[in-house]
Amino acid sequence: MNEGILIIGAGGVGRVVTHKAVQNLDAFKKITLASRTLSKCEQIQKEVGGKIDIAKVNADSVDELTELVGRVKPFMVLNIALPYQDLTIMEACLRTGVHYLDTANYEHPDTAKFEYKLQWAYDEKYKQKEIMALLGSGFDPGVTNVFCAYAQKHYFDEIHYIDILDCNAGDHGYPFATNFNPEINLREVSAKGRYWEDGKWIETEPLAIKQVWDYPQIGPKDSYLMYHEEMESLVKHIKGLKRIRFFMTFGESYLTHMRCLENVGMLRIDEIEVDGCKVVPLHVLKALLPDPATLGERTKGKTNIGIVAEGIKEGKKRKIYIYNVCDHQEAYKETGAQAVSYTTGVPAMIGAKLMVEGVYKGKGVYNVEELDPDPFMDELNKQGLPWHIKEL
Ligand code: NDP
Repeated sequence: MNEGILIIGAGGVGRVVTHKAVQNLDAFKKITLASRTLSKCEQIQKEVGGKIDIAKVNADSVDELTELVGRVKPFMVLNIALPYQDLTIMEACLRTGVHYLDTANYEHPDTAKFEYKLQWAYDEKYKQKEIMALLGSGFDPGVTNVFCAYAQKHYFDEIHYIDILDCNAGDHGYPFATNFNPEINLREVSAKGRYWEDGKWIETEPLAIKQVWDYPQIGPKDSYLMYHEEMESLVKHIKGLKRIRFFMTFGESYLTHMRCLENVGMLRIDEIEVDGCKVVPLHVLKALLPDPATLGERTKGKTNIGIVAEGIKEGKKRKIYIYNVCDHQEAYKETGAQAVSYTTGVPAMIGAKLMVEGVYKGKGVYNVEELDPDPFMDELNKQGLPWHIKEL
């Protein structure tokens, strides 16, 4: 019988997932961490006292992945590599009959556009194979979807408006750096904004809509409307919804640097030729910027991510705010990674724990809000991401 978990990706989030999985070894029994660079797996293996197995894999190759999954024989694979690898890893899981989980939806390396379509297309094949895929089990997507499902289950007959509010008030002391993979981060932030209202998507220029939100334990911050992937599944699964938007905070220094880099072409993802060499400007920028994995030690401050839901309960209007506050330094002390990796890695581990324990089971492809939010909410309180609810 297949047992244990195979984690793919030994970056900032992979480090947290592995640390938290080792803290829950009773549930997982056996943990294998595989990534492109074996030395990164070795480092994490050392940090957790040798309690995991490690392997090297190129997750762009379905054959290599299939061989690895067939050899390790895990109960499930946790895809903590990059969104580019979602489809190859899903395919390898299908071939080997092993459950799948990820934290970010598929994105093609050459097109800065992410959507669930290609992953949802696996639903029928996963059903036939009697395996489950849990998509987007990070914080946003992930916990924000669980918060919406929890609000729908316990607080509303119908939710009409949702704002997802993501604040990172951490300071790493650099004039410019990204808190997770620079390529993924900058592609996301420089893209056009989009929100959903009355059944259709409305596009805005990048970061064109701003509001100031007073984040508990942090204070008021400029928050900019962006497109974010959890909205695509939430509009399908939250009944009665009239509008959903996503806001993220950015400091002035970050925005000035980003606009300047964009204006000079450094965010381009197509190849250009420099002195006879072909390079992608965004890859050059990534090589120049601080590695997000090294920011943990320097980052001070907190994150606050949550949702504001507004709707009707028993004929009366109601508005609630559900959020989590995470401290960068505390996250670093516990796992060697800052709060952005921590808030993503803990929910990935929780989703996997609930699948391994059989609390979440199903055949086919699911987004987290389709499952019972209560066990997930309980685990958040136990595993380091406690949440708060306020009536507004
Ligand atoms: P990192 O870049 O720090 O780590 C990614 C890891 O995946 C690296 O170790 C990298 O290897 C490995 N990897 C990349 N390509 C391959 C490949 N072809 N084969 C094998 N391994 C590969 O990213 P993060 O840890 O910051 O992010 C991980 C994931 O989490 C991303 O998908 C990101 O989008 C998602 N995320 C989700 C959030 C959420 O709330 N839902 C929030 C933040 C991130 P190498 O070290 O060799 O480069």
